[in-house]
Amino acid sequence: MAFDVRKIRKDFPVLDQTVNGYPLVYLDNAATTQKPTAVIEAVADFYKKKNANVHRGVHYLSNLSTDLYEQARKTVQHFINARHDYEIIFTRGTTESINLVATTFSQAFIKPGDEIIITVMDHHSNIVPWQQIAKRIGAKIKAVPVTDDYQLDFEAYTKLFSPKTKIVALLHVSNSLGTINPIKKFIDFAHERDVPVLIDAAQSIQHERIDVQELDCEFLAFSGHKIYAETGIGVLYGKEEWLDKLPPYQYGGDMIKDVTIEDTIFQDLPLKFEAGTNNYVGAYSLKAALDYVSQIGIEEIAKYEKHLLNYAIEKIQQIDGVTFYATKQDNKVSVLSFNIEGAHNYDVGMILDQMGVAVRTGKHCTHPLMYALKIPGTARASFAMYNTTEEIDQFIEAVKKAKQMLT
Ligand code: PLP
Repeated sequence: MAFDVRKIRKDFPVLDQTVNGYPLVYLDNAATTQKPTAVIEAVADFYKKKNANVHRGVHYLSNLSTDLYEQARKTVQHFINARHDYEIIFTRGTTESINLVATTFSQAFIKPGDEIIITVMDHHSNIVPWQQIAKRIGAKIKAVPVTDDYQLDFEAYTKLFSPKTKIVALLHVSNSLGTINPIKKFIDFAHERDVPVLIDAAQSIQHERIDVQELDCEFLAFSGHKIYAETGIGVLYGKEEWLDKLPPYQYGGDMIKDVTIEDTIFQDLPLKFEAGTNNYVGAYSLKAALDYVSQIGIEEIAKYEKHLLNYAIEKIQQIDGVTFYATKQDNKVSVLSFNIEGAHNYDVGMILDQMGVAVRTGKHCTHPLMYALKIPGTARASFAMYNTTEEIDQFIEAVKKAKQMLT
């Protein structure tokens, strides 16, 4: 299918509105994406015609709902090319997926004195769980530093390993900078030392083709809402042999084969990790979203978003007194982080909003990265497949206005 942004925009009803008298320009896509009608209607249709709890009943609706839930699992499996559908665990999102691995992996494998490698570029959701667990156990966190050109320092990474390294957890794409990290290289190096790797794909799943078998990572986490699905649904992919080695994360209904007052026999994968009533409607929305993305083609989307990014970089470069971060690289998704010299990012965001432009401001849940870059935060414009160059023009005009008013 040829990429047609006008047609795509019609699929996203929320975009068609004015804010403060200007056409809405939604450039906060790294925080969450808007939802296409295909997803909105899938959810409405589910509640109108299909709703019942999954894996519980013998009746028609329960079987239908269960079938759709398991189809959603298969859709995710194919989207990321997992070997088996039962290697896909539904969670609330990236944060829960990482907490699941951090908690259960540490119970099984981490002892006092052991080491965990993360990075300075990581989102808090891939720092805090490991850090808190390390504190509790008496393990040590080692973080890969960032180079002056906003890349992970691979040389430094190689030196962090020791016989005590138990796991590497790192992000694929930086939410603050857009940098695409060469994770295959990081994974291969860890594997040469028999260390498993978790990938935080929260900011790559919507921009890049992900093939977990090719990457060969042990775990990979992402959130549905960043790829056009509902909030409250996410995925943990894990290699079967690793998921089998981990204890359950939460306990309750649906994850058991049998229970006596004294003991419990747990379910096999994937249900062992899906205690309680899961967000099966969210899973259905994720299926609708991934089908929508697949129909357009992730490579087509990536190509178009790259075009938007290059257009925005070219325009913003022409404004004096605007500093932007990590724009010189080819390995970058459509995230543009910037500051206006002499102005606080928060004020910039407020003025942009006055002109209908939605950007994110602040530290973007990456305090260690901001401390390393020695900046208080940035304004961040992040583009999705439904944005246009006309919208970028409106954004650039708003940045010029902010500069005029604030400096
Ligand atoms: N990791 C990265 C790189 C992110 O950008 C985000 C969210 O912005 C997360 C993890 C957490 O995602 P969620 O809040 O959907 O769990």
